[in-house]
Amino acid sequence: MSPAAPAWLMQEVRRAKRGRGADLVADTQALLQGLNLPTVCESARCPNRGECFSHHTATFLILGDMCTRGCAFCAVQRGRPLAPAADEPQRLAQAVSRLGLRHVVITSVTRDDLPDGGAGHYARVVAALRHYCPEVSVELLVPDFAGATAALARVLAAGPDILAHNIETVPRLYPQVRRGADYRRSLALLQQAKELAPDLVTKSGLMLGLGEDAAEVETVLQDLRRVHCEMLTIGQYLAPSLHHTPVARYVSQDEFASWRRRALELGFRSVAAGPLVRSSYQAHKFFQEIS
Ligand code: SF4
Repeated sequence: MSPAAPAWLMQEVRRAKRGRGADLVADTQALLQGLNLPTVCESARCPNRGECFSHHTATFLILGDMCTRGCAFCAVQRGRPLAPAADEPQRLAQAVSRLGLRHVVITSVTRDDLPDGGAGHYARVVAALRHYCPEVSVELLVPDFAGATAALARVLAAGPDILAHNIETVPRLYPQVRRGADYRRSLALLQQAKELAPDLVTKSGLMLGLGEDAAEVETVLQDLRRVHCEMLTIGQYLAPSLHHTPVARYVSQDEFASWRRRALELGFRSVAAGPLVRSSYQAHKFFQEIS
């Protein structure tokens, strides 16, 4: 069972949940529902939904809302997904245009059932965005494609501005919280992305509070820099339910600030660290900073 969250954190969660008001949140929800577009914000029960939706920002979840993996930290449902929807790229471009986004983050469930892991669908989504919203920058937060370089190459050929892949936690905890994933494979994906597309910006995300220690976090940061990862997010793990991995500890604001400083020292160009930071949190702002 998770320990009780500190009062200051609960206050942050309440603030993020309220955002700029229920009406603005409802506007975004109605638009997304009307276009039948799931978001990771809702599927993963992100604590920032109120804040992001009330700013008309969301992170789109393509390739369905059922995942073939089922990580112990993630609220997205495990199951047998449907075939990718052929009109999803156009619907998504329509939502981006109607929300007035200048930067869009797109992620997906893991599709180990598809021969290309969903890479072709990612490429079609980027193509639709380039066609209908050419002024919008595109950030893809991709799964590991089971280590298939051809799948990664297909996604990169579509020309995203940022390729993100979350390392999530320290390697020791992978068997408990990220079964089916492989720490080295995730690092290799980030490295290959830079080799295949040297001008591409790469990004990763790490959760704290799962039971890692400081030396392990330091190693992860160094490993990410070794594969030339340039952008980093570090946030507090919050258990989505009693059935998920419990929180081991709540990290203080000072500790987040200190990891941010350390990551910048190691050479990351952009680092967002804080209890409610998620990989897509204020992604537009961090992309602008390094552009
Ligand atoms: S932080 Fe990302 S996942 Fe969370 S609500 Fe905002 S856009 Fe969605």
